[in-house]
Amino acid sequence: MTRTPALPVEQAGATWSGCHTFAARELLRPRSIEQLQEAVAASTRIRALGTRHSFNDVADTDGSLVTVQGLPERIEIDEQGGTVTVSGGTIYARLAERLGATGWALANMGSLPHISVAGAVSTGTHGSGVQHRNLSDAVRAIEAVTADGTLRRWTREEDPDFAGRALSLGALGITTALTLDLVPSFEVRQDVWFELPWAALLEHLEEIMGAAYSVSVMPDWSSRERAGKVWLKSRTDAWDDALDPARFGARWARTPHGERAEGQLPHQTDQGGAPGPWWQRLPHFRPDANPSRGDEIQTEYFVDRRDGAAALAALRDHAERFAPLVLVSELRTVAADDLWLSPAHGRDSLGIHLTWANDPAAVLEVLPVIEAALAPFAPRTHWGKWSTLPGEAVREQYPQLPAFRALAEDADPTGKLRNDYLERMLGLGRG
Ligand SMILES: Cc1cc2nc3c(=O)[nH]c(=O)nc-3n(C[C@H](O)[C@H](O)[C@H](O)COP(=O)(O)OP(=O)(O)OC[C@H]3O[C@@H](n4cnc5c(N)ncnc54)[C@H](O)[C@@H]3O)c2cc1C
Repeated sequence: MTRTPALPVEQAGATWSGCHTFAARELLRPRSIEQLQEAVAASTRIRALGTRHSFNDVADTDGSLVTVQGLPERIEIDEQGGTVTVSGGTIYARLAERLGATGWALANMGSLPHISVAGAVSTGTHGSGVQHRNLSDAVRAIEAVTADGTLRRWTREEDPDFAGRALSLGALGITTALTLDLVPSFEVRQDVWFELPWAALLEHLEEIMGAAYSVSVMPDWSSRERAGKVWLKSRTDAWDDALDPARFGARWARTPHGERAEGQLPHQTDQGGAPGPWWQRLPHFRPDANPSRGDEIQTEYFVDRRDGAAALAALRDHAERFAPLVLVSELRTVAADDLWLSPAHGRDSLGIHLTWANDPAAVLEVLPVIEAALAPFAPRTHWGKWSTLPGEAVREQYPQLPAFRALAEDADPTGKLRNDYLERMLGLGRG
């Protein structure tokens, strides 16, 4: 089969933060599902690229990258079923804005709404909240072009392997659309505590992480006394139950009338306690601004929430080694799920996130220190962020990995959708 001549081809480029340059020889941008099918069928090596917000080579290939962002947009709400079917290349900001005009909401969002739905669910992207699972868990149906160019659809109800499909690191096909669970719309207010002492955080971690609908702690590893700020995203209909930070030796951020809350940066969503729609409060970053800094590297490790305080204490013992390189750190919770490759598989998890200065050599030197400190807690790494964990250490954390490998080998016998990353991390050979 020959490639359709009109298929737009671009340079592969680099990840959003620039810390990985793609080895792929080109980026294909099909304009129709048929054009995508032809491109996949004609390729010997091809991988999907989302909005490039992963930090490592998870998306890369030595063949072609393909984006579904040029396909016609779909955002179709099923009022009866309480779901939305969305094209895979759609970004959360666009989806949320459209849902915002209805009585529906997504239960949770990641820190940035700039990412594509297909890319986010492929890596287990998560927000925070002791009750909330990652974004992949909201997937109820998947439409994808498989390795042989066939367009297929799977549903949670009918497919016995569905727990292996949404969070699949691009190894099973090029996702063209996803059906997601919705919840009735709700309002959120965001408030901030300042000066939380480390001692209180370690002693009351569970209570603090459960203090609102979604809680993020932003620890300061350079201080022995003060862990720092806590961002609380509370449903306005549960605000009366809010905890007093004075109980933990912290205080509310000051919110001068008509001004940004104390410490809030221009690219962040409102932190001054003003009620607003879920989609303007759950993400940390405003859709119309650049998220985070850009010139950075990110890592995130997940441990069992019950081990959270012990894991943080173990990391603190090495803080002198790594704190000077840390730009921002964040602790979030992700509820347990049964997705085969989920970092929260089978355990309620604490995510320990670190945003690093873009100094790859220095970061690569301290990651083994962090990983050794966390080793007693069986850490799982975020699939889209950096880690130096050896493949065996990664693989032993996923009891369903053999089932996933069988699914991938069956879906793609010649390994055209596989890459170095999948071989290194999952032991998935390229046929
Ligand atoms: C500033 C910043 C903040 C972040 N905040 C968070 C956060 O709050 N929580 C969190 O968990 N993560 C966070 N991340 C990480 C990010 O959410 C994930 O790396 C996510 O996968 C990025 O989605 P993407 O669309 O950019 O996908 P890409 O990075 O482009 O691709 C990721 C993977 O998805 C696959 N993929 C993409 N599109 C498709 C498709 N159509 N079909 C099949 N496979 C596909 C790719 O092959 C690749 O394996 C953050 C990243 C940045 C840069």
